[in-house]
Amino acid sequence: MWDFETDAAYQADLDWADRLVREEIEPLPMIIPHIFDLADPVRNAIVRPLQRKVKARGLWATHLGPELGGKGHGQVKLALLNEVLGRARYAPMVFGCAAPDTGNAEILAHYGTAEHKEKWLQPLLDGEIQSCFSMTEPQGGSDPKEFTCKAWREGDDWVIEGEKWFSSNARYAAFLIAMVVTDPEGPPHARHTMLIVPADAPGLEIIRNVGFGGWGEKLDSGAEHAHVRYNRVRVPVANQLGPRGAAFAVAQTRLGGGRIHHAMRTVGMARAALDMMKERLVSRRTQGQQLARKQMMQEVIADSWIELEQFRLLLLQVAWKIDKLNDYNKVRGDIAAVKVAMTGVLKRMADRAIQVHGSFGLSDQAPFVHMLLNAYQLGLADGPTEVHKVALARELLKDVAPCETVFPSYARSVREAAAREKHAEVLKAHGRW
Ligand SMILES: Cc1cc2nc3c(=O)[nH]c(=O)nc-3n(C[C@H](O)[C@H](O)[C@H](O)COP(=O)(O)OP(=O)(O)OC[C@H]3O[C@@H](n4cnc5c(N)ncnc54)[C@H](O)[C@@H]3O)c2cc1C
Repeated sequence: MWDFETDAAYQADLDWADRLVREEIEPLPMIIPHIFDLADPVRNAIVRPLQRKVKARGLWATHLGPELGGKGHGQVKLALLNEVLGRARYAPMVFGCAAPDTGNAEILAHYGTAEHKEKWLQPLLDGEIQSCFSMTEPQGGSDPKEFTCKAWREGDDWVIEGEKWFSSNARYAAFLIAMVVTDPEGPPHARHTMLIVPADAPGLEIIRNVGFGGWGEKLDSGAEHAHVRYNRVRVPVANQLGPRGAAFAVAQTRLGGGRIHHAMRTVGMARAALDMMKERLVSRRTQGQQLARKQMMQEVIADSWIELEQFRLLLLQVAWKIDKLNDYNKVRGDIAAVKVAMTGVLKRMADRAIQVHGSFGLSDQAPFVHMLLNAYQLGLADGPTEVHKVALARELLKDVAPCETVFPSYARSVREAAAREKHAEVLKAHGRW
C-alpha cells in the first residue's frame, strides 16, 4: 500500500518545528556570526533556551536511537523534519543534529569505550561540546590510499605526525577524531587507525582556518575549515576507536547517514529558494507587467518545482528503503544517487534564483550566492560527485550479464527469431512460418 500522508501527531510536531525555524532560527545568522562558537555569550543566551524548547518537545537529536536519548525516528520521519530544518542554516544545531557532530557521535556510540562515552559522547549529545572529524589531507584529498599523516606507538601512546585539511570546526571542537596511517605496509583498507585527539593536546596546531569564497575579505574571519598540523601529538592508546587498522570501516559508520541527512536538508533549502522566486515574480514589474506574466519566468518556476518534487520523492523513497532494509550497504547505490542529485538540484535552484532576482540576487542582501557555494560544498564533502556516480554505476552494472550474440538481445532480428521460435506451432498452423 503506497501512502504519502504523515500521521497527525507527527504533522503537529513538524508544524511546531516549522514555526520555530521560521520565527526564531532563520534570523539568527544576522546577529550570531558562528553558531559553533560555544564561547560566544550572545549565542549561548539565545541558542540554549531554543535547544531546551526542542528537547521539551521531544525533537532533540531524533536521528539517535532511544539508547542514546533520541527518538529512534526512522529515516522517513527524519527526512520530513530535516526538510523543515533545511530552511535555516543554524537549525540543525538547535535541533541537536548538526554535522560533523552527528557522524562523530555515531562513531563514538559504535566504537567508543565506556570512558569515551562518558567523557566525549554524552556532552556531545547534550550539546555541551563540539567535535571535529580530521580525515582529508592537503596532498591527498579524501582518498585514504594517498594519506601520509601517520602515527606510531611509543610505550602506551600513539604519536601523530602530519597534516590534515578541511578539518571543519577544529577551532571550536573539544576533540578531533583523526584518521591516521599506522600500518603503511598493510592492505590499502587496513592501513589506518582512528584516534581521539583532545583539542588541547600539546603539538596540535591550526595552521590556518579556511573559508569559502570571500576572496579579498580579512583572512580567517570566522572561517571554519582548519588546516591542521599534528606535531608529534601524543595520545594514549586508550584513545583508539575500533581495532588498529580498521579506520576505513569505522569511517563508513558516519557516512551513510550523514549523506542522506544533508540531502534531506537540501530539500528545505531548495524550497526556500523556490518560495523566494515565487514572491519575487509576483512582486516585481517590468515593461508594465508582473514578472510572473513572462513565460520564461514561468518556465523557471515550473522547472524548479518539478525538479524539486522529483528529488524529494527519490529521497523519501531511499529513506523508506533504509528503514525497511536497515542496512546501509544494501542502499549504497541509492544513497550515492541522492548525493549526486542533491548537488545538481541546489546548484540549478540557486542559479535560477540569482537570475530571477537580478542584481539583488547576486548581492549580499540575498542568500543565493551562499546557497550556490553550499551546493558546490555538497558536491565535494563526503566524497565528490564523480566518486558517487562511479559507485552508483558499479551497483547498477554488477548483476547485468553480457549478451552472448553478436547483436544485442534487444536487436529486432534477435527478438524476431526468439518470438518465431516461441510461437512456431501457431505460425506454422496459420501458414506464416
Ligand atoms: C564544506 C566542506 C567541509 C568539509 N569538512 C571536512 C571535515 O570536516 N573533515 C574532513 O576530513 N574533510 C572534510 N572535507 C573534505 C572533503 O571530504 C573533500 O573536499 C572531498 O572528499 C574531496 O577531496 P578534495 O577536496 O581534496 O578534492 P580532490 O581529491 O583534489 O578532488 C578534486 C576533484 O577531482 C575529482 N575526483 C576526485 N576523485 C575522483 C575519482 N575517483 N574519479 C573522478 N574524479 C575524481 C572530483 O571532481 C573532485 O572534486 C570538507 C569539504 C568541504 C567542501
